[in-house]
Amino acid sequence: MTKHLVLVGGGHAHLTVLRHVDKFVNDGHQVTLIAPCRYHYYSGMGSGLLSGIYRPQDIRFNIQKMIEDRGGAFVENRAVRIDTNKRCVDFETGGKIKYDVLSVNTGSYVPKAGIPDSEPHIYPVKPIENLFRARQEIIDRLRHGAIRLVIVGGGPAGLELTGNVWRLVKDWSSAATVTFLAGRKLMSSFPEKVRKLAAKGLSYRGIRMVEGADVQRFENNNAVLDDGRKFPYDFALLAWGIKPSSVCRQSGLPSDEHGGMLVNEYLQSVEHPEIFGGGDCICFQPKPLNKVGVYPVRQNPILFHNLMEAVNGGRRMKPFRPQRSYLLIFNLGDGSGIFYKKNWIWKGKVAYLLKDYIDRRFMKRFQVSGERQENS
Ligand SMILES: Cc1cc2nc3c(=O)[nH]c(=O)nc-3n(C[C@H](O)[C@H](O)[C@H](O)COP(=O)(O)OP(=O)(O)OC[C@H]3O[C@@H](n4cnc5c(N)ncnc54)[C@H](O)[C@@H]3O)c2cc1C
Repeated sequence: MTKHLVLVGGGHAHLTVLRHVDKFVNDGHQVTLIAPCRYHYYSGMGSGLLSGIYRPQDIRFNIQKMIEDRGGAFVENRAVRIDTNKRCVDFETGGKIKYDVLSVNTGSYVPKAGIPDSEPHIYPVKPIENLFRARQEIIDRLRHGAIRLVIVGGGPAGLELTGNVWRLVKDWSSAATVTFLAGRKLMSSFPEKVRKLAAKGLSYRGIRMVEGADVQRFENNNAVLDDGRKFPYDFALLAWGIKPSSVCRQSGLPSDEHGGMLVNEYLQSVEHPEIFGGGDCICFQPKPLNKVGVYPVRQNPILFHNLMEAVNGGRRMKPFRPQRSYLLIFNLGDGSGIFYKKNWIWKGKVAYLLKDYIDRRFMKRFQVSGERQENS
């Protein structure tokens, strides 16, 4: 029997499904992708987009072309609600679409609650395409004189943004100060060696790093810490944490306290067997996972297999078995990187080159032909 598979969000966990949409279509099914933009940007290369190491077309997938070339349909819109009774998805601009099987990969966002609209020039790190807009605005402002840049958030994203915004400034002008507001403690969830290498990798370039307090609010062009210190800024990059996309929780699907849709080992909603999901928007019930791209990438073949089973009425679902440890390489923006896997921690140019190689190889796997030649 013909089924309608609807994919909400064309994130990292849906890439294999998108590459094999023709297999669903050949079995007589209909596949539709709902996404706010025809491109999906690969976050692992996002900080390099800010510094200019990469162009937008180097780090994005044309998800519209991926699905349409293989016989599926693309709806450029944002999903705002999943109605599990009527089995339909509501769009932001009105209208809806019915589904038989649904898969959600809507990722995460940087909360901006409490930032007044009167505070301009604050760019959250997600969606990743923000970083290209930020780059253009920073360049524009550098042309007109000195600026004060602050980066908020002492995790991996804040670290990478700081190193890469330094590179952008250095390439264009020296008339800028870069201040890294790293929260209570830089890279607090990582071993001491990673912390030390990260701090050293920034301080030799004259980047000012502030620890010991979190940014509490923004007012009158100042980032105000919870111990009262104030840091004036003209331009701020926000990487103070992420939250799972709110679509699932708002729709009443069982979710964790942060809003991630609860899924079982088959990446299937714990209450609705016809709904699946992957990436930052889910909470993997057997073992909550860190919000890193490694997991959605590894969920790809599992989601593909299980969605195939679901539309074809099969019952041989495959479980997702998250790996215990994974490699992370942080791009410091000066041509070096920090390599981190278990107790193996080192810094150098080779680490950055390895990351660049792995990331470009990943892009090649899923980019459709001709994409890299497109204009940005
Ligand atoms: C600067 C930076 C660097 C990072 N570097 C690394 C790294 O090197 N290695 C690593 O493992 N992790 C890294 N991460 C973490 C990684 O980005 C995330 O874990 C990963 O992006 C999660 O993938 P995802 O597909 O779940 O979500 P996303 O990448 O956020 O994709 C979600 C997609 O859903 C779409 N969408 C959102 N809302 C809706 C909606 N309502 N309706 C329809 N579509 C919607 C979006 O447009 C987007 O295309 C980094 C994060 C940042 C911010």
